[in-house]
Amino acid sequence: MTEHLTPSTEPAVSSTVVREGPTFESLNPRNGDVVGVHPIHSADEVNAAVERARLAAIWWRDLGFEGREDFLLQWRSVVTRRMAQLAHISHLETGKPHSDAQLEIALAIDHIHWAAKNAKKSLGQHKVPSGIMMANQHASVRYNPLGVVGVIGPWNYPVFTPLGSITYALAAGNAVVFKPSEYTPGVGQWLVDTFTEVVGGRPVLQLVTGMGETGNALCTANIDKLAFTGSTATGKKVMAACAENLTPVVIEAGGKDSLIVDEDADLSAAADAALWAGMANAGQTCIGTERVYVHRAVFEPFMDELLQRARALRAADDTESKIGPITMPSQLDVISRHIDDAIAQGGRVVLGGPEAVGERFVQPTIITHVPETSSAVTEETFGPTLVVNPVDDMDEAVRLTNATSYALAGAVFSKRNGVRIAERIRSGMTSVNSVIAFAAVPGLPFGGVGESGFGRIHGVDGLREFTYAKSITRQRFKPLLNLTTFDRDAKTDKTAATLISLLYGGRKTIR
Ligand code: NDP
Repeated sequence: MTEHLTPSTEPAVSSTVVREGPTFESLNPRNGDVVGVHPIHSADEVNAAVERARLAAIWWRDLGFEGREDFLLQWRSVVTRRMAQLAHISHLETGKPHSDAQLEIALAIDHIHWAAKNAKKSLGQHKVPSGIMMANQHASVRYNPLGVVGVIGPWNYPVFTPLGSITYALAAGNAVVFKPSEYTPGVGQWLVDTFTEVVGGRPVLQLVTGMGETGNALCTANIDKLAFTGSTATGKKVMAACAENLTPVVIEAGGKDSLIVDEDADLSAAADAALWAGMANAGQTCIGTERVYVHRAVFEPFMDELLQRARALRAADDTESKIGPITMPSQLDVISRHIDDAIAQGGRVVLGGPEAVGERFVQPTIITHVPETSSAVTEETFGPTLVVNPVDDMDEAVRLTNATSYALAGAVFSKRNGVRIAERIRSGMTSVNSVIAFAAVPGLPFGGVGESGFGRIHGVDGLREFTYAKSITRQRFKPLLNLTTFDRDAKTDKTAATLISLLYGGRKTIR
C-alpha cells in the first residue's frame, strides 16, 4: 500500500476479490453504487482462519508486552498517516460525511496508543498482599492472553467500534479473527491489511467476511472468546451459539440513552449537544441521544435553542451536508414506525415528521410530549430523531431514564448537580455537561448493563476482558502454623482458631 494517499488518488474499491466461491457486494448507501466485492466465507474457511490464528497467537504472545507495543505503535502510525484513505472507504460504505469518518478514526488511533502503552502496567505480574494467615507466602497475579479472540463488528462506526475490542485483545497478547458487518467489509479489510503489513504478513489479525452465517461460524469455531457489537437481538443469538463450546462473550448491544437538562443548565450548550448526539451519523450511534428530559421550568427556552439549530440541519448527498444517509435500508421502516407511533400516541411534531423519511435519507425529526409507552421511547430508533419530554424535577428525569430495558450511556446538563444526577443513572457511562466524552477517554471502561450487554472494552477493564487471571503463590519460609498437612494436630487447630478470633472476632459497630 502507498502511504499519504488522498481520497482523490485512491481507488474507490478497497478490496476487489477475484475468487472461486460465493461473494457479496458492499454498496454505497448514498446512491447504491457497488463499492467492493468480498467473499462469503464458509464455516470451513472460518475454522481454517482460526487454526492459522492459533499458531500466530503463540508468536504474538511470546513477543511480550514490549514487542507487541512496538508493532502496535507502528500500526498506530500507519493508520494515522493513511487516515484519509481509510476515511474515504468508510465514507463510501457507510455514507457518513468524510469529516465524521476522520473523527472516528482519530479517536480509534488514541485507543491504539493507550492500549499499547498501558498493557504491561495493567496486565503484567504484580504483587498482592498475602494477608496475616499466609504471611509466609509471596502472592502475585498476572493476566495472560486467552489465545484467539473472535470479533464481530457493526457498520455504524466500522473503525472505532470493532477496534475497541480488536486493539485491546491484541495488546493483551491474543490473535484476532474479525468479521465486519456485511455493510462495511472494505473498512475491515483495510484495517486487517495494514496490521498484517506491519507484522510481516503473519496472521495475527485476520478477516472473514460474509453474512450472519459467517458470524455464526465464528461463534462456534475453536475460539477462546467472542466480542460482539450490534443489536440486542443478534447478541442473544451470538451468546446462544457461543454457549455450545462454553465460549465466553462480550456483548456491546444497543441503547436508548437519554440526555437530562436541569433547570440550572447552560441551555445553549445542552441544546447543541442534544442535537449533535441525536443526529450525528444520522442518529446511528449506540451511545447517541434518543430521548431528552428537560426540567419543565426551562422547557420552552430549551426548545427554542434546539429548534433554532435543528432547522439549519439537512440530510443530503452533497459535501456540505452534515448528515448522510441511513446505512442499512431496512432501518428506514423502523424509523418510520417509531415516528408514526409517537404521533398516534399524542406526540407533537415540532420538526420533520413522517414525510422526513425518504428513500435513503431521513431529515431531522423532533417530537415532544411523547408518552413513555410509545416505541419511540422504548425501542432503539437508530435514526436522526429526538423525543423531547418535559419533567417536573430531576427525580422524574432519573426515573424515566432508568425505566428502559437498555442501560448503555447518557448525559446530564446541570451546573450544580450534574455528577449527583449522573450517579443515579443506571448505565455504564454518563458524561456531565458534554456528550459521549467517556468514549474518547481511553482509560475509561466502555460497556452497558441490562439489554445493552455486559463486559467492558477500553481501559484496564477492556484489556483484562481478553485475558485470564493467573495467580501464583511462592512460599518464602516455612509457616509457623502448617495448615495444609495431615500432620496438623489439635493444638495447631486451636492456635488457628484463636488467631482468627483475635483478628476478626471483635464487635463491629455499624456506621
Ligand atoms: P446486527 O446485530 O444484526 O449485526 C451486527 C453484527 O452481527 C454484524 O456483523 C452482523 O453481520 C452480525 N450477525 C448477524 N447475525 C448474526 C448471527 N446469527 N451470528 C453472528 N453474527 C451475526 O445489527 P444490524 O446491522 O442488523 O442492525 C440492526 C439494529 O441493531 C440496528 O437497527 C440498531 O438498532 C442495532 N445496532 C446497534 C449497534 C450498536 O453499536 N449498539 C450497532 C449496529 C446496530 P451482517 O452485517 O453480515 O449481518
